[in-house]
Formats: sequence, structure tokens, C-alpha cells
Amino acid sequence: MKVLVINCGSSSLKYQLIDSETEKALAIGLCERIGIDGRLVHTPAGGEKVVKEAAMDTHEAAIKLVLEALTNKDHGVISSLEEIGAVGHRVVHGGEKFASSTMITDEVLNAIEECCDLAPLHNPANLIGIRACKALMPNVPMVGVFDTAFHQTMPEKAYLYGLPSEYYDKYRIRKYGFHGTSHSFVAKRTMELCNLDPNNSKIIVCHLGNGASITAVKNGKSIDTSMGLTPLEGLTMGTRSGDIDPAIIEFIMKKENKSIDEAIEILNKKSGVYGVSGISSDFRDLEAATADGDEKARTATDLFVYRAAKYIGSYVTAMNGVDAIAFTAGLGENDKNVRGGIMSYLGYLGVEMVVENNNTRGKEIKLSTDDSKVQVWVVPTNEELAIARETVALI
Ligand code: AMP
Repeated sequence: MKVLVINCGSSSLKYQLIDSETEKALAIGLCERIGIDGRLVHTPAGGEKVVKEAAMDTHEAAIKLVLEALTNKDHGVISSLEEIGAVGHRVVHGGEKFASSTMITDEVLNAIEECCDLAPLHNPANLIGIRACKALMPNVPMVGVFDTAFHQTMPEKAYLYGLPSEYYDKYRIRKYGFHGTSHSFVAKRTMELCNLDPNNSKIIVCHLGNGASITAVKNGKSIDTSMGLTPLEGLTMGTRSGDIDPAIIEFIMKKENKSIDEAIEILNKKSGVYGVSGISSDFRDLEAATADGDEKARTATDLFVYRAAKYIGSYVTAMNGVDAIAFTAGLGENDKNVRGGIMSYLGYLGVEMVVENNNTRGKEIKLSTDDSKVQVWVVPTNEELAIARETVALI
């Protein structure tokens, strides 16, 4: 079956058409600047990239262009829309309502709408994408795959905050966690690679990209994760602060005469390694600046690595041990300094690294020696494929 995977943001839309039998992408693409001017970048597998500047006032207009590109006689990959057997939608927040992927019905749409409070930047965009696809492909089954769903297995002691319980009772303020589709995909693959029994395994997945989170996966289930009610908690990220003393917010607001919205914007967009270095959120820039002797760039990288290593340590405690650690996403798959830096803290676990293997990029590889007590792997993530698999499994 051919599955269209849609990841809809507020002004952008990423898509892949995946053949579920071969698990290969037939085409990948992106619509940018929806509602502004509009640009479609479409790449058929094995073909040339096509860039089309085209007005797209709405997400529905963008999806129309995507469907046109997929069926185009020159750069299309299917002869008609009849070939699309299902659509899988990435949905960021499923709250406590969704512990797994689900077929999209009117009732499900309402439930996703009710989660908009928890992800005001993401869920409304996801809903727009779903509704636009339903309007254009009314007879094609659609599935919602939630970033939060994998983490719904966390026990109460992991997901509750030390706040008055009325806030949980009234507003469901708790840890939800994100990147769940990636953590689940990578954990499964790590179990296969390490030949672990899914019902007797302890894995730590480090999804380290511009947004970054670490998850403790015990017996195949998420038991704790570093992101929280929102993706702001946890690791120091590209531009997000991660964990801070909450009193800092009031302190900054008073000293700098900022509103709460401005303070939160600083924590989301101006902090992390970008804020600490004052240079960039991209670790390639930080590496270059560090090589030129920039101390702040070095400090930002050290801070990122140290925080990640501490989270790993806390999850070893939470699981009372660890069999394997997996690195994934932009940094986890590519950045030898970040991986090597984190592993340098893990000697107490008996982790030993093969330096040559760590010097590689973007491929599945074992980083630990055969004698290492804990296996460490690079496992490239593929969220689109994971969404396609979930979609096929459900329909
Ligand atoms: P993501 O959000 O998963 O796309 O990850 C973005 C981060 O991955 C950025 O900080 C990049 O510096 C890093 N990254 C992506 N590709 C590479 C690469 N080829 N080498 C080193 N770092 C990379």
C-alpha cells in the first residue's frame, strides 16, 4: 500500500509517499511559506528535485499542490490519487486521551481539538492539515500518530510534578514527553540490533537534534522522558533552555521589564546553546567557533553534553541498570564530538568506545567495543516510516 505521511506546521507542510511493502519513500517534499507566498520542493525517489514557487493561501491549497506533484506526468510517482491507500498524520499532542495511534473520526478530531491548549503552536496546525486532507480525499482512511502517545506508559511518580494536585486534577498539568514516535522506533531497532528480549530490556534513547530529549525505555515501554508538559523541559537544546530554576522567569521579567510571553519566548527561542554561545543553535557552527578559540562556543557544547550525560545517569538509576544506549537525530547521528563527549562520562557503566566507529556520520553503527558492558549504538531515526507503519497496522 502507498501511504501519504503528512507533518503539518503552522506555515509549512512536510510529506512523504511511502510504499509500505518496500518501506521506501517514493517521493519526499515540503511546502513552505503557506499563507505568505508559497514554495513547493518535491523530490521523487532517484529523480531531480523540483522547486515550484506557487501561491498557497491555505493548507488545503498546499495539499492540492502536493497531490498534483505526486501525480504529475513529469515528476510524479503515481498515476492517480486512487493509488494512495491511506494518510498518516503526525499530531504533536494527544494529551492523556491518546496512548496509541488512532483512526481519525469526527470524535477523534474533537479530542485533538481539546488538546490544543497543551500545544497551542502545533495542534491547530495539525488539525488544519487533517481537515484539508479529508476535504480533498474524503474516502481515504486517515490515521493520527501522536508524539506524546509512546510516553503514556510512564508511571505516576514519573509524570507528576511536585505541584498542588488540583492543577493536575483541573488542567491535567503533568509530564507528557515528545518525540515519542522516534523514541519508539529507535528503541525497537536497538532491541533488534542488541538481540534483547523486548520484555526484559533496559534502553536509553537519546534523540539529540535541535529539539532534544532522552527516554528511559524499560521492557519496550517509556517509563520516563526528559521533555515535560511542553518540549521546553529537559536537556539544553538548540534554542530552548531545558531545565532551569522556575524562579529565574520572574527574576528576568522584573530586571528586564519583560512580559510573561516575552520571557517564555526567550526560553524557547533565544536560549539553549544559541543563547549560551551567542553564536548559533547549530553545532557545526559551534564546532567551527570552538576550533577558532571561542570560549563561549566551547562552554555551550560542554553544557549540552554534561546535561545529557546527567539525564542518562538518572535513567540508569530509574531502571536500575541499562543494556543499551542509542543516539539518534541530527546530532546523535552525525556529531562525533557530542557523542564522544557524552560517552566520556559513562566509564562508570563500563562503556568503552571504538573511536573509529564514532568518527562516522549518518549510519547505523555500534560505537561500543565488544567487551563494553553496555552496548552503545547510532540508530538513525525515521519518523515518517514509523508513521507509515502505524498507519498500515491500524487500517
Ligand atoms: P535535527 O533537529 O535533528 O535536524 O538536528 C539538528 C542538529 O544536528 C544541528 O545542531 C546540526 O548541527 C546537527 N547536524 C545535522 N547534520 C549534521 C552533520 N552532518 N554533522 C554534524 N552535525 C549535524
